[in-house]
Amino acid sequence: MSMNFIEPEERIALRKAVAELGAKYGHEYYAKKARADEKTHELWDEAGRLGYLGVNIPEEYGGGGAGIADLAAVLEELAAAGSPLLLMVVSPAICGTVISRFGTEEQKKKWLPGIADGSKRMVFAITEPDAGSNSHKITTTAKRDGDGWVLSGRKVFISGVDEADAVLVVGRMEDSRTGKLKPALFILPTGTAGFEYTKIPMDIIAPENQFSLFLDDVKLPAEALVGEEDAAIAQLFAGLNPERIMGASFSLGIARYALSKAVSYANQRQVWGTPIGAHQGLAHPLAEIKVELELAKLMTQKAASLYDSGDDFGAGESANMAKYAAAEVAIRATDQAVQTHGGNGLATEYGLGTLVTAVRLGRIAPVSREMVLNFVGQHSLGLPKSY
Ligand SMILES: Cc1cc2nc3c(=O)[nH]c(=O)nc-3n(C[C@H](O)[C@H](O)[C@H](O)COP(=O)(O)OP(=O)(O)OC[C@H]3O[C@@H](n4cnc5c(N)ncnc54)[C@H](O)[C@@H]3O)c2cc1C
Repeated sequence: MSMNFIEPEERIALRKAVAELGAKYGHEYYAKKARADEKTHELWDEAGRLGYLGVNIPEEYGGGGAGIADLAAVLEELAAAGSPLLLMVVSPAICGTVISRFGTEEQKKKWLPGIADGSKRMVFAITEPDAGSNSHKITTTAKRDGDGWVLSGRKVFISGVDEADAVLVVGRMEDSRTGKLKPALFILPTGTAGFEYTKIPMDIIAPENQFSLFLDDVKLPAEALVGEEDAAIAQLFAGLNPERIMGASFSLGIARYALSKAVSYANQRQVWGTPIGAHQGLAHPLAEIKVELELAKLMTQKAASLYDSGDDFGAGESANMAKYAAAEVAIRATDQAVQTHGGNGLATEYGLGTLVTAVRLGRIAPVSREMVLNFVGQHSLGLPKSY
């Protein structure tokens, strides 16, 4: 059977429609909102109304019934237009997927239609101050409390809590048979008593904020637990691959945005009587970035395709590789776009300086470059684990 490297017609049409929406807003809108400490709600709401935020949610719950490959295409196109909507990584991709695949019927009915049309946002909290990349060490713990639960713990760097209706919290609970702590996911509405959050000042110019969370004996009803008690590991894996695929798409879109700005400037700007793009010192790095971008995109599509075919395990390796490659090319593309613009690269008018720290995020989150390399070293190459 031959392999098909061409996207289905529906996805090509989706990309085109989303790109048009993205162009209507553009980077100027995004940067202006970010600088004013405001949200990109107009774009988010319109994308939601048009069905773009919910393409991956099952149709019976108000979504488009397609896959993560389609949602990834939406994020990539918006980012390529200069408006990378970070919360798409958490709300429809992680939370939407986990609830669609593992939630109870009530949870699906309560959350999915709003996640799909953008009227509800759910964010995702796994990172803890003392555990960091070692998520086996998380200590946020759920204890039984009558029929319900009491959650205590701390989280850091949780995106978008100020604009979220709920947080999908990764914690641990006692196994009723063995007494050992095992992972468990809870839906925590942001207004719940005992739940507090404070903004972490960040040097990223983006409309989304990051928060420290404090869970101090937060009482939750029984139905806050996502799905079945013993399904948490599968739930986590179900959410983590979409997160990486979307992380890759976020970076790919920004890389495309930066490269296209660089190319257009290099074709116009003349300082020696020819466009600066004629100098190979500028043309070759841009050509290399184009190669790296296409390779990263292909790996992202492979990861999404494996994931959408139901191969959670198989998608892991390519989702990690895609996230790695896309983050690296986004950093390179943004840096080279700034360089191509000379002094203008850092002038507000040219809309590039805003993205310099945003692309660095892709090397750190949702999983760091080093942890991806550890994964590849161990799982793809069979090298020993050092930690
Ligand atoms: C803007 C932003 C938004 C975020 N949003 C969210 C969110 O919404 N939800 C959420 O849960 N988290 C979020 N995060 C957290 C993010 O996932 C973590 O920052 C990331 O996983 C790294 O963890 P850490 O910061 O604790 O770094 P650490 O784990 O402390 O790592 C520090 C450094 O050590 C390296 N390192 C650690 N262990 C090893 C090892 N074994 N081998 C080699 N190197 C190693 C790391 O690669 C890194 O370079 C966000 C972070 C940022 C910056």
